[in-house]
Amino acid sequence: MTPSHHARRLMAPLEADVIRLLQELVRTDTVAVPPAGNETAGQLVLRDFLHAQGLAPELYDVSSVGESGHPCARRDRAYAGRQNLVLRVSGSGRGRSLLLNGHMDTVPAGRAAWTEGPWSGAIRGGRLYGRGSFDMKGGLAAQFAVVCALHRAGIRCGGDLICESVVDEEWGGGGGSLAARLRGDLADACVIGEGTQLEIALASRGGYLVDLICSAGDPAHFFSAAEVVSPATHLGRLLAWVGACAAERRGVPRGRAYAAFPDPVPVQILALEANRMDLEAPLTVPLTARLRVYFQFLPHEEVPNVLGRIRESFETFCRNDPFFCVHPPEWRPMYDPPLLGHELAPEHPWSQCLALAANGVLGREPVVTAAPYPCDAFLMQREFGIPTAVFGPRGAGAHNQDEYVEVRSVTETAEVLAAAALEWCGA
Ligand SMILES: [Zn+2]
Repeated sequence: MTPSHHARRLMAPLEADVIRLLQELVRTDTVAVPPAGNETAGQLVLRDFLHAQGLAPELYDVSSVGESGHPCARRDRAYAGRQNLVLRVSGSGRGRSLLLNGHMDTVPAGRAAWTEGPWSGAIRGGRLYGRGSFDMKGGLAAQFAVVCALHRAGIRCGGDLICESVVDEEWGGGGGSLAARLRGDLADACVIGEGTQLEIALASRGGYLVDLICSAGDPAHFFSAAEVVSPATHLGRLLAWVGACAAERRGVPRGRAYAAFPDPVPVQILALEANRMDLEAPLTVPLTARLRVYFQFLPHEEVPNVLGRIRESFETFCRNDPFFCVHPPEWRPMYDPPLLGHELAPEHPWSQCLALAANGVLGREPVVTAAPYPCDAFLMQREFGIPTAVFGPRGAGAHNQDEYVEVRSVTETAEVLAAAALEWCGA
């Protein structure tokens, strides 16, 4: 029997239970809004599920990460009371170890209306809907399904299998994964179950979020002074600077992983704000106008240097602008230091192992690509030397309304991960 047939047979008796677990996780609010996060409720659901499967997961506090002094640790986050969950299955010692990593936190539901509520977990047309279904409770459920299936079948791998559900991934956190590595949970390879449409992502991008905040004008002036100053009037030129920046970034050498992407290093405006249009807001010119800009970086880029040049360009623009030289906008990062990208060679034994597993389970050559987002992969690979790939289910709507994951693809993810684990760790 091939590892993929084996994996399918292992997963079949658990399929319904795993989808029920996923539903329950989606129905559990685990929203993180910096500096805090509500992950514990979800970790307890997961713990109870694992207990019922006869497994003994461990929950541990991550509060030490803030004071760890690690350069990637975010000192402005509140970690007290937030817990990672880890399930460590010791191998016989004759194989390579594998880390399955996923995050329990989600972004908020947002203000836009959902067809059903964000916490519905409703299944319609083969899709399971709700906040976090795709990002990334689908992948998280699939990961833990692997350990449950091996346990149920009484299979002990050669190498250790470490399966973890971490906190604080969203908003560029990284605190949960960092706490886990600093604690000593290391492995010979890692896969992160973020949604990838069942494609194998061997690279991820870096990211940096900054708010450009311009305050100008005087609250006493509207209806009182001959001239009223508004920063909103001048936002167009600031937007043009962002546009020019985006155009310049599009020309950077792409490297191998992102060569096929139409815009390999997007510069996106995530928010643009100056007063509100609801009738609670009096009619007056805004005194503050702000942009939230999201920069991404390719795996090979020297991010601090690139950011330094962007910052310089911004300051030159402000100095030469008739309005912004008088009212220079504040440059306020949402998180600092930035997230970095990562890249694993397709020739690496772990890339090959994952590709072989996907090929066997999916019955076709898997698409090998790069993730269109930053994630915790760089922490594993660049900070702790663990070769890392990203592989997870199909879905859409991450960070937006009507987020969903395709139910069947959650099982397929688990099958691929199980086949890869059997092969990598040695059954
Ligand atoms: Zn995610």
